[in-house]
Amino acid sequence: MRRRAAAVLGLVCALAQAEDGLAPAKCPNVGSDPDLAVLVLGSGGPGAVGRASSSYVVLLDGQPRILVDAGPGSFARAGEAGLQMRGMDIVLLTHLHIDHAGELPGLLLGRAVSSGRPIDARIYGPAASGQFPSTRRYVDLNFGAQGAYAYLKDFSAPLTISAHDIAAKPVKPQTLLAEADLKISVIPGHHRDAPAVVYRVDYKGHSVTFSGDIDAQGLPALSSLAQGTDLLVFNSVVLDPPGSAPQLYELHTPPAAIGKLAAQAHAGRLLLTHISPLVEQHQDEVLASIGATYAGPVSVSSDLLCVPVN
Ligand SMILES: [Zn+2]
Ligand SMILES: [Zn+2]
Repeated sequence: MRRRAAAVLGLVCALAQAEDGLAPAKCPNVGSDPDLAVLVLGSGGPGAVGRASSSYVVLLDGQPRILVDAGPGSFARAGEAGLQMRGMDIVLLTHLHIDHAGELPGLLLGRAVSSGRPIDARIYGPAASGQFPSTRRYVDLNFGAQGAYAYLKDFSAPLTISAHDIAAKPVKPQTLLAEADLKISVIPGHHRDAPAVVYRVDYKGHSVTFSGDIDAQGLPALSSLAQGTDLLVFNSVVLDPPGSAPQLYELHTPPAAIGKLAAQAHAGRLLLTHISPLVEQHQDEVLASIGATYAGPVSVSSDLLCVPVN
């Protein structure tokens, strides 16, 4: 009897947790307000440690419209969120590391079976460099006529994909897309040897900027694109030196520099994401380091967290 009571108590606690705001909200339930929101599908990085890898959905007027990154695990999270994928036809890839692009086929399949109507998908990402293919080639290797998943183009709905490469130069903000109230801007980022892109989405006077994985060399570009942004989604992988493995500082930005950049960019608020186990363990230190230079609100993302931008 006592064991049963304990089990019931456990369930009640779980439900209470689900209702106190710590548990994931579901952006699709937010409705047509706010104008701009971000649903985190994947708040983690490359390790299989409990979070899906990098992936976000930008909702405009409550409708999922833009996918930012497609990391492994995000397909399952999309289902858990009850995400309606109809209309989500813009994909922005920050770079082609597996933890950011590896689940593109699954998510595109999910989109394809969500509606029988013809789909025009637009996929943006970096141009080729070194051992990394261009985004166009990556898409072609997956979905082209000779690609691994060539069948997808007429599997469920007629699917047309146009892929676009964003060159590493010039390093200045450019408008990628401007349609009615929506504007998407880009600037090349820097992520050691992996060509990388920073994206900013502006909608009805509100904006969100995604740093992607970024090292120190990419920060001036991020700062210029993110000026005055309402929400800065910043990948937080390493501790301040020397807390993380030295080679990781060639790839990622430590908390002190994140705070400094957020302050320089006059970001309205900061959402830390791509959370590594080390950052999770030392969350208080990370927040204190950021807080030394950035006075705005800082939150730490989790899978299925919904962040209204306005
Ligand atoms: Zn990553
Ligand atoms: Zn990366």
